[in-house]
Amino acid sequence: MNYNDFEVWFVTGAQLLYGGDAVVAVDAHSTEMVKGLNASGNLPVNVVYKGTANSASEVSDIFRAANGDTKCIGVITWMHTFSPAKMWIHGLMDFKKPLLHLHTQYNEEIPWDTMDMDFMNLNQSAHGDREFGFITSRLRKPRKVVVGYWKDKNTHAKIATWMRVSVACADAQNMRIIRFGDNMNNVAVTDGDKVEAEIRLGYHVDNAPIAKLVPFVEAVTETEIDALIAEYERLYDFAPDAAKGGANHQYVRDAAAQEIGLRRFLEEKGAVAFTTSFDELEGMKQLMGFASQRLMAEGYGFGAEGDWKTAALVRTMWVMAQGLPGGCSFLEDYTLNFNGAKSSILQAHMLEVNPEIAAKKPRLEVHYLGIGDSGTCARLVFTAHEGAGIACTIVDMGNRFRMIANTVEVIKPKALPKLPVASALWIPQPNFEVGAGAWITAGGTHHSSFSFALTTEFMEDYAEIADIELLVIDKDTTIRNFKQDIRNNEVYYMLNKALR
Ligand code: MN
Repeated sequence: MNYNDFEVWFVTGAQLLYGGDAVVAVDAHSTEMVKGLNASGNLPVNVVYKGTANSASEVSDIFRAANGDTKCIGVITWMHTFSPAKMWIHGLMDFKKPLLHLHTQYNEEIPWDTMDMDFMNLNQSAHGDREFGFITSRLRKPRKVVVGYWKDKNTHAKIATWMRVSVACADAQNMRIIRFGDNMNNVAVTDGDKVEAEIRLGYHVDNAPIAKLVPFVEAVTETEIDALIAEYERLYDFAPDAAKGGANHQYVRDAAAQEIGLRRFLEEKGAVAFTTSFDELEGMKQLMGFASQRLMAEGYGFGAEGDWKTAALVRTMWVMAQGLPGGCSFLEDYTLNFNGAKSSILQAHMLEVNPEIAAKKPRLEVHYLGIGDSGTCARLVFTAHEGAGIACTIVDMGNRFRMIANTVEVIKPKALPKLPVASALWIPQPNFEVGAGAWITAGGTHHSSFSFALTTEFMEDYAEIADIELLVIDKDTTIRNFKQDIRNNEVYYMLNKALR
């Protein structure tokens, strides 16, 4: 995953009413602005200036080219002059990628003493961007509107967030998810419509019987395992029985073979996300929990018990957060901790939590796991560091996908000497009572994709681009308003298709 593989196009709206000189000036200003945006160092993806659009055919040409260009992940539009918006209709209707409408102006402050009609004919974004806003609204076109001066770092931050989300959306269009085994029997919330997911969110979900993975694990050589054990020794502390010479070291070697075999299998299939099942492990010596932890840290999406929607979301949020401090992980609401205003939820899983969120060096341990056919499993045991984060999920409501995003405060837990799993302890915002209540009212999963690096703005941009429902639970949430939002959304999504 390299952001340099992508670019965002910048198109300036103008027209020929004011003569060719005006367009030449518009072009020079736009060139300078795009140069400035790239030079700011605040944007993770390169911006490529694609010239002025002065007619319907020019607009259509640009958007058609953008659709067909694999490097282009989205288009930024800005109306330097008044650009009559009927000329944007066909191009916008054809356009299939993320759109950002930047409402800015070349000139920062009004030049009070010198401003004349020539200046006015050129610097018209105040009304030009409103004309463009109407047609995008009239077309019900999903887009992000960013308002701010083009040199302002707050403006850059909003564009940067949209860029990161646009890269993740492009990644999702090519995402293949491999499921080793179906959803855990009878579990409802992690299931859903995979056809609708491919239409709406882009990714493709395939099944692979575990028997297809077994030969990949068996083909791993002792030398390869030795090399990986050496890497583990550099990165983790070992429980004495798990270390070389210890009674349970063989389980670590078996887990290393699983990691190498699983990575090879996914590479061969071109998959970047996967799910496992503790009930489908024929031919495996243990549940691939440690391998899942290791692959998640490399950017593979993961969902336990066949949870392909969370696997996809973990991958998507990892892509969004490239290069940002933090880390993301698959997590599960494990156990409640009632403690007044500090009431919290312990997040963990049987094994599969990403060591990227660890507070300190993880410890490699081996323990028996009684569920299904899991067997005796290696795993990294650690506690997540403290800090603000976001927990997200996507559920299938039958007529739409609903994303739920909850800001959470990860706090310091007490030691868990008898529970050898990785965990995080958090207070959902605005507090345990409202946060957990809203999540459950919305039908949110017990599995979530968690990130220390992302904010609700990322999820807002993602939901806008993918055109799915978004419910945010944060410091401003009240149950009464949240329930009303859900009722309003029910009507909106019923009518939405009729409007388009
Ligand atoms: Mn689970």
